[in-house]
Amino acid sequence: MIGAGLNGPLLALGLVKRGFDVEIYERRPDMRRVKMSAGRSINLALSTRGIHALTEAGLWQGMRPIIIPMKGRMMHSTDSKLTFQAYGKDESEVINSISRAELNMALLDAAEAQGVRIHFEQRCTGISFKKRQLSLREESSGKDRSAEYQVVIGCDGSASAIRGAMLRLSRFNFSQEYLNYGYKELTIPAGTGGKHVLEVNALHIWPRGNYMLIALPNIDGTFACILFLPFEGADSFERLTTKTAVQDFFESRFPDAVRLMPDMAEHFFANPTGAMVTIKCSPWHVDGQALLLGDAAHAIVPFFGQGINCGFEDCTILLELLDRHGAGWEKTFREFEEARKINTDAIADMAIENFVEMRDRVGDRRFLLQKQVELALEAKYPRQFVPKYAMVTFHRIPYATALQRGRVQERMLSDLCEGIEHVEDLDWAKADALIRGLSPMESA
Ligand SMILES: Cc1cc2nc3c(=O)[nH]c(=O)nc-3n(C[C@H](O)[C@H](O)[C@H](O)COP(=O)(O)OP(=O)(O)OC[C@H]3O[C@@H](n4cnc5c(N)ncnc54)[C@H](O)[C@@H]3O)c2cc1C
Repeated sequence: MIGAGLNGPLLALGLVKRGFDVEIYERRPDMRRVKMSAGRSINLALSTRGIHALTEAGLWQGMRPIIIPMKGRMMHSTDSKLTFQAYGKDESEVINSISRAELNMALLDAAEAQGVRIHFEQRCTGISFKKRQLSLREESSGKDRSAEYQVVIGCDGSASAIRGAMLRLSRFNFSQEYLNYGYKELTIPAGTGGKHVLEVNALHIWPRGNYMLIALPNIDGTFACILFLPFEGADSFERLTTKTAVQDFFESRFPDAVRLMPDMAEHFFANPTGAMVTIKCSPWHVDGQALLLGDAAHAIVPFFGQGINCGFEDCTILLELLDRHGAGWEKTFREFEEARKINTDAIADMAIENFVEMRDRVGDRRFLLQKQVELALEAKYPRQFVPKYAMVTFHRIPYATALQRGRVQERMLSDLCEGIEHVEDLDWAKADALIRGLSPMESA
């Protein structure tokens, strides 16, 4: 396998448990021994699909001490008013903040403990599908070598080297689309005694129309913040070129947040500005010898908090197929792509849609009313009506079903919310009639 990020070690663990001999080549040093500089997003939100895969691997219970459940969104207005909006119908429906590094280290430990051999600082620079040979470069010495493989799985993320080689094969479909937005990681330090200085069990959002700041809690009392901002234009990264400009921008747009971030402007310039891309491609496999999985096959923008949940679900599905077909790799890879592609395309599209919702609509009065109506409908018709956010986050309903039902429900909601101001004013006779047209959901 190529890549010991998040998907690589989890999949490797499942493979060795099934009797396969697995080696991983990873271009970075071992993060358990070398402290890495700020990389991509300090924190991740883990939800049902990811938790299911970790549970199957026997790892979830052990991770409980390193997660913080977030029950809902805490919206911060420009005049520092707070509005809380629960994610789910009750306290069982939460998303879980986890440090990317902690999760990665736990996965590396678990994979090695089961016998996976991980070779760090080994960059894959190419692959010969004809010779079944990988080209590898030792990062510390620059020395090149090759390694034979029987089957290779590219878990090497959105800039996958394996996918790069597939691009040169005939009839390989590929698209990548960057957002005009970048992101910057910042930190809210812990208060006295290591205490969190904002509500701990929430994902904080400062929605500001076409940009936003978010903050996720860490177990050490800090909050990992991400600023999402256009690269160019009036309020944009290109305008924030001096510490004074950054400080002024934060003080006028996020006054309550900046008060909690004493070294914000220094961190702003010390941390890189990341880009966000949606990648779609097919086929994901070369016969029965090579496969792409996780971001390598389908990178998505982070606004539904589903990238790794979706990648871990890939692992679940691939392992289920292997259990069915044994080492019939070609059949397994073909069925894997047939099962997953439609769903990974769907979450890619929903992640883009959710960006608009998070940065623009979450503070809106009509939006909050719609959310209340959704929960009321779900309480009355739990088999027929599950909000789209819940289908994606708290269920393992296929993403494509969530997308399709979500669109129908959205039209229903606009209809039901038209002309009312409060959830108590809901026309239940109309709701009954509309819901009758929805088929019950199998896995809801
Ligand atoms: C800002 C941001 C916030 C996010 N928030 C969330 C969230 O809340 N919830 C969620 O579910 N997802 C989130 N994601 C998405 C999530 O981070 C990704 O989906 C996930 O990291 C993908 O895992 P992966 O193992 O496929 O790839 P990666 O995690 O990128 O791992 C790939 C690994 O391959 C290695 N590698 C790359 N190229 C080579 C090579 N040529 N040779 C050898 N090794 C190589 C890399 O060093 C890396 O270790 C977020 C992403 C971003 C950018």
